[in-house]
Amino acid sequence: MTAPFLTVADVRLIEKQVKKILRAKSSSNDTKIINTVIGLAIEELRENLSVVNEEILKEVEHIEDNLNAELFIHSLKAYTIPFKAISDKSLQKLFKKDKKLKLPKLDLIDWQTISYLSWLDKGTNRQYIVLENEGDYTALRGVYEASTSNKGVCAICNQHSAVHLFTATVKGNGDHYTSYSNYICDDVLACNGNVTDYTKLEQFVSRNLS
Ligand SMILES: [Zn+2]
Repeated sequence: MTAPFLTVADVRLIEKQVKKILRAKSSSNDTKIINTVIGLAIEELRENLSVVNEEILKEVEHIEDNLNAELFIHSLKAYTIPFKAISDKSLQKLFKKDKKLKLPKLDLIDWQTISYLSWLDKGTNRQYIVLENEGDYTALRGVYEASTSNKGVCAICNQHSAVHLFTATVKGNGDHYTSYSNYICDDVLACNGNVTDYTKLEQFVSRNLS
């Protein structure tokens, strides 16, 4: 058994390319067009995957239909490095200023499908975001503005979607506070599904922590 080598974002990127190929196959009978799309998809994977695995690229190249794609994406779970599961206790430690921290339902989370963990406390309008890197967690807390169907580009996944304003307030020198506001996806799971590299996510978090 090989040790997991794909990040969650890698799997999302593969999934995105597979969908592109399937779309081309269902909308065209022109082999030339389909092969061009496949070629571009493979190129994109070669350039952006954290680890290039020829077996996986070969499977992408030969994707036939939806069922085939679903089974293939599912099979990648065996090679996926999950977000290292966090406990209620550790979350309470991360956000120790919140005495009555509302916790997410951790047992419902599929750790192999998330690049970041986030949940809302509708009572206080707070949004919590947690990143994990080799067992180290970074915590971010902000206030969300429940929007009236705002559409925009999400600061985390860079997709155009339904978004809300997330504002984090950072303490600087002395009593000086600075607030940072960003639009991020309303739907955390969909957003996680769109994170195909960590650049934006890491930028977003460090911007709000500094
Ligand atoms: Zn997003």
